Amino acid sequence: MIKHALKNRRATDFSAWYQEVITEADMAEESGVRGCMIIRPWGYGMWERIQRLLDDQIKATGHENCYFPIFIPLSYFAKEAEHVDGFAKEMAVVTHHRLIEQDGTLVPDPDAKLEEPLIIRPTSETVIGTAFARWIQSWRDLPVKINQWANVVRWEMRTRMFLRTSEFLWQEGHTAHATRDEAMEETLAILELYRSFSENVLAMPVIAGEKPEHERFPGAVATYSIEAMMQDGKALQAGTTHYLGTAFAEAQNIRYQSPEGELELAHTTSWGVSTRLIGGVIMTHGDDDGLRVPPLIAPHQIVIVPMLRDNDEDAALLDYCNALVASLKQGSAFGEPLRVHLDKRALKPANKRWSWVKKGAPIILEIGGRDMAAGLVTVIERTALYGDDGRLASKAMTPADLAAAAPGLLEAIQQQLHAEAKTRLDANITRDITDRAALAAHFADAAAYPGWVEVSWSKPTGAGLEAIIEELKALKLTMRNVPQGSDAAGSTCFFTGEAAVERILIGRAY
Ligand code: AMP
Repeated sequence: MIKHALKNRRATDFSAWYQEVITEADMAEESGVRGCMIIRPWGYGMWERIQRLLDDQIKATGHENCYFPIFIPLSYFAKEAEHVDGFAKEMAVVTHHRLIEQDGTLVPDPDAKLEEPLIIRPTSETVIGTAFARWIQSWRDLPVKINQWANVVRWEMRTRMFLRTSEFLWQEGHTAHATRDEAMEETLAILELYRSFSENVLAMPVIAGEKPEHERFPGAVATYSIEAMMQDGKALQAGTTHYLGTAFAEAQNIRYQSPEGELELAHTTSWGVSTRLIGGVIMTHGDDDGLRVPPLIAPHQIVIVPMLRDNDEDAALLDYCNALVASLKQGSAFGEPLRVHLDKRALKPANKRWSWVKKGAPIILEIGGRDMAAGLVTVIERTALYGDDGRLASKAMTPADLAAAAPGLLEAIQQQLHAEAKTRLDANITRDITDRAALAAHFADAAAYPGWVEVSWSKPTGAGLEAIIEELKALKLTMRNVPQGSDAAGSTCFFTGEAAVERILIGRAY
């Protein structure tokens, strides 16, 4: 029997396993403030990789970065009723700018009360829209396509590291266009960008589609999402894009003069992905030995663990390792130089090895005196940790052979992680459930792997929709999205029996 590096198993307690990976891989820890986490270097390093690669794509599609303040005057929110309704219950509000001592404790100074409360941004449509109103005068000023990397605060009641935190890091794109068609084109182009980023960079396959009306972003005309399937079969909304119509333009007075001289409202969009993506990567690729980081976002792709013995041989061993680092760094994978790290910590070599297994470094090299004497290195692939005999698998290679093979190996690991996750996603969307009893039975069997169910529906509104939402809620289910390219033609609604208009994904979700 394999003795895995973690105490918890995915199959028996997925949520304890997730928490253990985060701790054991040194990803993040509690901060003392509910729902706010400290992101440690290995977790933040992954975020930096995500930032860098996504930022390149955002810029390549004609967007520019900028920065807006963290504080938004309360009155800015009041202008768009649906938007403020949606966010009111999770806003952090700043009301004072000074403390005074009272009976030995520090309290806000009543004389330092702000004239207008400031909201710590939960999202920046209101403040960016206000700037758009100044920047946009004529059709010649359009489109405006900006993005910002920032932190936001939403006072979430049920938090979980990376997946849902009260403060999180994200990028938020905001654009303004002359017409509905252009704004919609942007909304869908970013959805596709998110889809391909998730698949190709995070190796996390997703279903892209439109959210049902009741799951829209507050104030949006249409919201689209990418939904990823975690290893426990639950859905994770990994990113969203919104077509905001002209409602925000109206509230913030974003108008432009058309070529014909008419004053028109701009059509706006917004879109974001957050540090939630890292939670998605853990729950997609982790195994019972910890995390497995896709090489494209691994802060270190190759980690060298010298078997230092605290004796005279150490210096020669380190020389051997340093030469290896230098030669590996000459190579490149995915069009970038390899990221190689030499772990010189004074820990027992076995502990170092397991720390990198748990962190999920794609390739781990162990080098001891014997390897050096033989002119070899011992190579461990994180995605092929155990042999058929259940023992740790490794192979011996010469440094030259390894340097030649490493780029291809990293690219193969990236592919393998994607293929595994794609097989799981494809195998676990059930499309042939046609009645309620079967739906309930499908999700009642805790031992089975329910994944998601896709059904046809007639998209009722009002009370009809409410009833369906409640019915699903009783089974702990929610509607995820209407998959792009799905077709309900000729089918009847799962819920009402009427003619269906679209297919919708249903599942348990984070
Ligand atoms: P939204 O502005 O609500 O569309 O959010 C954009 C994206 O940010 C969502 O699709 C999520 O991936 C992510 N997100 C939303 N809320 C949180 C949260 N509390 N913690 C982490 N990520 C979040």
